[in-house]
Amino acid sequence: MSRDLPIPDIRSALHEAAEHVADYLANVERYPVLPPVSPGEVAASLPEAPPRHAETLPDILADYRRLIEPNVTHWNHPGFMAYLANTGSGPGILAELLAASLNVNAMLWRTAPAATELEERACDWLRQMLDLPAAFRGHINDTASTSTFLALAAARDRAAPEGRRLGLTGLSRPLVVYCSDQAHSSVDKAWIALGLGLEQVRRVASDEALRLRPDALEAAIEQDLAAGRQPAAVVATAGTTSTGSLDPIVEVAAIARRLGLWLHVDAAYGGGAAVCAEIRAQMAGMEEADSIVINPHKWLFVPVDCSVLYCRDPGELKRAFSLVPEYLRTADEGATNLMDLGIQLGRRFRALKLWMVIRAFGVEGIIERIRHHLALAQKLAGWVEAEPGFVLAAPVPLSVVAFRAVGLADPEAEDRWNEEILAAVNRRGPVFLSHSKLGGRLVLRVAIGNLRTEEEHVATAWRLVREEAAALRPRFGKEAV
Ligand code: PLP
Repeated sequence: MSRDLPIPDIRSALHEAAEHVADYLANVERYPVLPPVSPGEVAASLPEAPPRHAETLPDILADYRRLIEPNVTHWNHPGFMAYLANTGSGPGILAELLAASLNVNAMLWRTAPAATELEERACDWLRQMLDLPAAFRGHINDTASTSTFLALAAARDRAAPEGRRLGLTGLSRPLVVYCSDQAHSSVDKAWIALGLGLEQVRRVASDEALRLRPDALEAAIEQDLAAGRQPAAVVATAGTTSTGSLDPIVEVAAIARRLGLWLHVDAAYGGGAAVCAEIRAQMAGMEEADSIVINPHKWLFVPVDCSVLYCRDPGELKRAFSLVPEYLRTADEGATNLMDLGIQLGRRFRALKLWMVIRAFGVEGIIERIRHHLALAQKLAGWVEAEPGFVLAAPVPLSVVAFRAVGLADPEAEDRWNEEILAAVNRRGPVFLSHSKLGGRLVLRVAIGNLRTEEEHVATAWRLVREEAAALRPRFGKEAV
């Protein structure tokens, strides 16, 4: 019996897969962005029991084509403009293949010297692209949710150094984290997972441009201090999920420094655009942070998953997480062991795709592609503003355009109308949009971030929205006077 499959079989399946991947990328628009399936349909098409006997790779690939590929939501489709669009780019796909072939587990330097050192170098390249001070050291996690969790764990340990040993029983005062009412839910989740509790997450008001209000932050901190709680950390967002708004980091950093709070900057989405000097300037103050998260798997063309966490003093992360049992002890002087920087021990080789994407596009190429997305977003914002019956729901500093159809007398009916417009547009096939709520009102979002998205795709999205709005309008009652 052979162990792995015979090399000729592997080789020929890899060739077939390479052809298939190239064809998929070339023809992804033949699919609707959202697959026409209902929950349970895919499962129903799959055998309930595993095969007793080996099946051939060509048969398996044929089933992949028939059952899997048509039934995914096509994130690599140029019409994908929901949530925060991203790209599995050519160099990223190539790197994923090569990383799988190496199958290194980069837990220790010893177990993956090149993966460890490439991770340090690729993160440092990105640091330079973001114009951050050399003190910042980055490492790669799966997602921003994990990166933010790690950063806030380090913040907890700074605020209550006894916590690591004694756990929550060792905390004399509840620790509080601050963020704006627009911050991502990963902040709340981190505070839950750290055992510090949702009641200690202070979501402070944002201004009319949906940016955290420094005066509201100061007031919330004062209230907590007066009530005997301990402010521990503040999260400023550089590119919020709903609208891309940019918190005033300089002011937030000054408050954090004055009061000794850990400052974490969530640039998971917006950080990609900070490679453009004009956007980086709007994120001034980021260099003052204790930690920053940026997701190359959102807006830097690296396939999911790849989230970089920068810490000004990686020693603080290490103090929170390093724990070396005998069986993992090595004598490699001066080496970084990535397991020291978080909860995971084993880790896959994600740096390869970051490195290959940066090399294959070059810094200038990345800047040019991001600027193209920024320009597309401005173009759409202009179309919305010029259209009677629609309003922009927020400024457009990055590549998310939030807007809504307006004009009904009843705000609830207007929300339902917008919700139905969204559902109808998404049923049409060529585009996929999503929604959020701002000030309690439903808004539609177009998020531009896929390398294949061109003006024609944005124009299609806008045409479909207008068509569906007009078609559905008669069902939703009186006009506002
Ligand atoms: N932070 C922001 C601002 C986000 O928009 C998102 C996701 O969209 C996240 C964090 C969480 O990202 P991830 O899916 O990598 O955990």
